[in-house]
Amino acid sequence: MKVHTFSGGPFGQNGYLAVCEEASKAVVVDPGGGAPGMVEHLRRIGVTPDAILLTHAHLDHIDGVADVRVAFPDVPIHLHAADRPLYDAAPRQCAAFGLPPFELPPPDHELTQGQRIAFGRCAFSVRHAPGHSPGHVILYAESDGLALVGDVVFAGSIGRTDLPGGDFRTLIESIRREVFTLPPKTRLLSGHGGETTVEWEARHNPFLIPHYGGELA
Ligand SMILES: [Zn+2]
Ligand SMILES: [Zn+2]
Repeated sequence: MKVHTFSGGPFGQNGYLAVCEEASKAVVVDPGGGAPGMVEHLRRIGVTPDAILLTHAHLDHIDGVADVRVAFPDVPIHLHAADRPLYDAAPRQCAAFGLPPFELPPPDHELTQGQRIAFGRCAFSVRHAPGHSPGHVILYAESDGLALVGDVVFAGSIGRTDLPGGDFRTLIESIRREVFTLPPKTRLLSGHGGETTVEWEARHNPFLIPHYGGELA
């Protein structure tokens, strides 16, 4: 699996294009402000994506969904059911941030805990990690040693929990259960900022090491 990063938008969001090169298959993850670049890349390599996978439904991770669907009208959208209310409230999310509203096609499939999403010889397993949002999922590619973690954990930080449906303790528990149980060398590709590893965060992340309240959960 080759993972390409496409960043953009007012929140500096990272969208990811995961490509299984042998099979010429791909999935789009969190198309945000960088979505036009994803579409261009897909056209250049001549691949129609199998799916749009959403780690969660905050507007910066979904505001490029329409760009992908305009270019590839049949590509199905996958989202955890617990984030559907947020997805449907996209116009209100825009208003809260003073941004113009946008139209979204409804999701086609629900992501569920333990589900396997295969494309060619590549696959992600779905791990439900609520706290930043109720239906947040992590996409773990075991054979590639990487996880797309959205806004659950960042290099040296964690997702905010002050938005509707957020909860600090739930987030810390999710990180311990769904991230820190992955092999230490696993690369973590986040929704904002640079990549990190499980090992580094377990040792250095101020929210997760024992002082500063990281021991709370
Ligand atoms: Zn978010
Ligand atoms: Zn975000």
